[in-house]
Amino acid sequence: MDLISDARALDAADALAERRARYLIPGGVIYLDGNSLGPASHAALAALDVAAREEWAEGLIRSWNAAGWFEMPMALGDRIGRLIGARAGSVACCDTISVNLYKVLHACLTLRPDRRVILAEATSFPTDLYIAEGVCAAAGARLVLAEGPVEAALSGEVAAMLVNQVDYRTGAVRDMSALSVLAQEAGALAVWDLSHSAGALEVALDRDGADFAVGCTYKYLNGGPGAPGFVYAAERHHGQIRQPVSGWWGHARPFAFDPGYAAAEGVKAFLAGTQPVLSMRTLSGALDDWDGVDMAGVRAKSRAMTDAFVRWVEALCPGLELGSPREAEARGSQVSFRHPNGYEIIQALIARGVIGDFRAPDVLRFGFAPLYLSFEEVARAVLALRDVLESGEWREPRFAERGAVT
Ligand SMILES: *Cc1c(COP(=O)(O)O)cnc(C)c1O
Repeated sequence: MDLISDARALDAADALAERRARYLIPGGVIYLDGNSLGPASHAALAALDVAAREEWAEGLIRSWNAAGWFEMPMALGDRIGRLIGARAGSVACCDTISVNLYKVLHACLTLRPDRRVILAEATSFPTDLYIAEGVCAAAGARLVLAEGPVEAALSGEVAAMLVNQVDYRTGAVRDMSALSVLAQEAGALAVWDLSHSAGALEVALDRDGADFAVGCTYKYLNGGPGAPGFVYAAERHHGQIRQPVSGWWGHARPFAFDPGYAAAEGVKAFLAGTQPVLSMRTLSGALDDWDGVDMAGVRAKSRAMTDAFVRWVEALCPGLELGSPREAEARGSQVSFRHPNGYEIIQALIARGVIGDFRAPDVLRFGFAPLYLSFEEVARAVLALRDVLESGEWREPRFAERGAVT
C-alpha cells in the first residue's frame, strides 16, 4: 500500500486545498488538533492588530461606536449563524460554553416551570455536566444522567434535554432532528452543544428544530485561544428568554441606566456584560476565512479524510482499536483509537511534530479540519504513528510525564 501516492491523488482533487495558505501552521508540524484549538490565520492576526493598534490605541473609547465594537455580539452571531443553519438574529456571540450553558439551562427551567429535571448524557463533556449540576443546585432542579441513549430517559418531568451533537471522545454524531422531535414530544426543550460540530458538520439548527444551542469558536472556527462562544435561541422562544446573569448588555436599553432589569428582545437577552473586544475582533478575522465556504464541501472532505485515516491506521497499526463509528456519516470530523498507553503514544507523536490529543482513560484523538489539512499530511501522520508503535519509542520515561492540560 503506497499511502503517499494515494494521498497525493486525493489532494490533487481537493477543491479546498488552496485555503491552506490562509493559515499559519509551523513547519514540521502536522496539526490534528484543530478540534481543540484551531490555528491562527493571516486574517485573524491582521484583525487583532488593527483592533489593538488602531481601534484601541488610536480610537480609544470612540471605537465602541466608530469601529462597531458595540454591535459585535450580534454581528458575529449572524456570521456564525450562517455556518450552523441559524437565521439572522438568532445567535449571539458571547461568554464561554460553560457560562452560556448555565444561562440556557436556567432559561429552560423558567420556560417549563412545572418540570424540575435536566436530562444529559452520562458521557457528556464534563463541564456540561458540572454546569448542569450548578444550575440544578441554584434552581432546585435535579440532574438525570442517561447511561444509554439519552432519549430513552425522557419523561414528563424533563424540562431540558442536553445533547452533544458530536461526542467529544468517540466522535459519534447524534441526529439533531430526530432527538429534538422526541424531546419536544415529551414536552421538553432540546439543547444542543455544538463544540465539535460548528465548522465541521452541516449543522442546521432552524431546520432540525433545536430549541437552544451553545458552542465555541476556538475549535474548528479558529477564533483563537479563549475566543468567545455563542448561543442560539430558536425564534419561537424570542421574547421569553429569562436568564440569571441579567447584566446590562442583555437589557432592553443598556444605556438608559434604569435601576430595574428589562430583558432585551430575542437572543440578545442572553448577553451579560462587556465583550472581550480583542478576542472578538480576532474572531471576526477568522470568520473572514469562512466567507464563501460551503459546509457541504467541508463535510465531504472531512468524511474522506477520516475514512482514509481509519483505513490506513487499521492497515499499519494493528495494536490500536477503533473507538469511533466506522461509518463516516455517523462520525464527526475526528477519529479516536484506543490503547492502554494512549497518553504516552500521543506524547511520542507530538515529539515527532504530529499533534493529536489524549482523552482519559485510553483515547487517542485525532481531529481533521478540512480548511487547512492535506491528505498527504494525514498519510504522514499515520506513518509516524506506525513508527512510534513499531519502535516502542513511546516507552521512554519522558513520554509518561503529564502536564496540567492534556
Ligand atoms: C470544548 C468543550 C467545552 C468547553 O467549554 P468552555 O466553557 O468553552 O471552556 C464544553 N463542552 C464541550 C462538549 C466541549 O467540547
